[in-house]
Amino acid sequence: SGARVRRAHNKRLPQYLERGVDVKFTDVAGLGKIRLELEEIVKFFTHGEMYRRRGVKIPGGILLCGPPGVGKTLLAKAVAGEAGVNFFSISASQFVEIYVGVGASRVRALYQEARENAPSVVFIDELDAVGRERGLIKGSGGQERDATLNQLLVCLDGFEGRGEVITIASTNRPDILDPALVRPGRFDRKIYIPKPGLIGRVEILKVHARKKAMAEDVDYLAVASMTDGMVGAELANIVEVAAINMMRDGRTEITTDDLLQAAQIEERGMLDRKERSPETWKQVAINEAAMAVVAVNFPDLRNIEFVTIAPRAGRELGYVRMKMDHMKFKEGMLSRQSLLDHITVQLAPRAADELWYGEGQLSTIWAETADNARSAARTYVLGGLSEKHYGVTNLWVADHINEIDLEALRIVNECYNRAKEILQLNRKLMDSVVDELVRKKSLTKQEFFQLVELHGSLKPMPPSI
Ligand code: ADP
Repeated sequence: SGARVRRAHNKRLPQYLERGVDVKFTDVAGLGKIRLELEEIVKFFTHGEMYRRRGVKIPGGILLCGPPGVGKTLLAKAVAGEAGVNFFSISASQFVEIYVGVGASRVRALYQEARENAPSVVFIDELDAVGRERGLIKGSGGQERDATLNQLLVCLDGFEGRGEVITIASTNRPDILDPALVRPGRFDRKIYIPKPGLIGRVEILKVHARKKAMAEDVDYLAVASMTDGMVGAELANIVEVAAINMMRDGRTEITTDDLLQAAQIEERGMLDRKERSPETWKQVAINEAAMAVVAVNFPDLRNIEFVTIAPRAGRELGYVRMKMDHMKFKEGMLSRQSLLDHITVQLAPRAADELWYGEGQLSTIWAETADNARSAARTYVLGGLSEKHYGVTNLWVADHINEIDLEALRIVNECYNRAKEILQLNRKLMDSVVDELVRKKSLTKQEFFQLVELHGSLKPMPPSI
């Protein structure tokens, strides 16, 4: 690549530098208008002097927000590639160490390297792992994280407005970041990268087809139509799997059929990859079954399309767990009770872990859904839905933050007990869903509701809050 590597004074090899990053914007497809925003970041490097002369502040940090696999890392690399600068990267989960001080010293080392080899892009993956609001995590792990976060803030401030080192971070949860991180001069620019739409998926498939021997009449639109909801990482995988399929058959061109078959494998989640131990399969099954079994009790959430524990490409656990009627939720049309129901469903995996494995053996398999619950509970309180009312004008008053958290905590606890109650009432249904999931990996809507008919003991739950 054309990276300009300035000689560092000491001969120590940079640890966090990724060599040979040669990604260009043309490698990232389906971006639409987002591309313009990213081109501007490149200009901060290439035309930095012009910005400074005109008194335009160059942002120190840019936050790329969006679900896993949509190309956030790829984009950060493309910015470095287009600007011809060095690319340093670290995953924030690497910051989070049990030994106090390790995280902070890694942050310092990362930024020192980036400065010594400026101009450079520093990329921090999964910023939320370290950037969660302070004080929300209790215990010594929380302290260590705070020290790391503080160090990161210091480093970000050190580069403010100079445009030599620009930090790009990715997160799927901008809503839970510590407010100090998103203050002006730090990550003050957010770019949202959504899942690709139909045309976006066509373009992404085509980018990955560029380097492959494709048949001339490949119907990309047909493949894109079949892959609703999939992200770039999954689409890239489909092209790879299709290529393998072609090779296996001893053919020389990838056809539409190869792609469609690969899409189906991707959708079914690589069923034949059985790298999990029986205990892990069971644990994941309990996790997923709990959500489905609790959800089926609630009017707005009971529309379950399928339940699956099949692992999907690039992820450890199954992640499209069930298709529920989430539209209302997304559109903010959930009633007060439905929002509580939603929180209850998100806490079901945690409750199931406690019921099936006991307090002593809790895992962290439910961490993500528990997070969803916490954030929804805050939404509930901030939205003025709880009994205790914090008027809209008070929302941002720091004095209330504690009270709001306490009220959210109360709601989480109530919903948690409710989830537990439902699961206890439905042990038989849980056991049968878990068994079937472990055996078949996926249950269709019909299969699931058959079990509900047989073993479910659904009682209309009285609103408990
Ligand atoms: P994220 O950082 O958002 O989790 P990545 O950038 O790691 O996603 O994406 C993983 C891979 O998926 C990329 O290396 C690329 O091959 C493919 N990919 C993802 N999004 C796109 C896209 N918009 N265009 C082309 N390829 C993509």
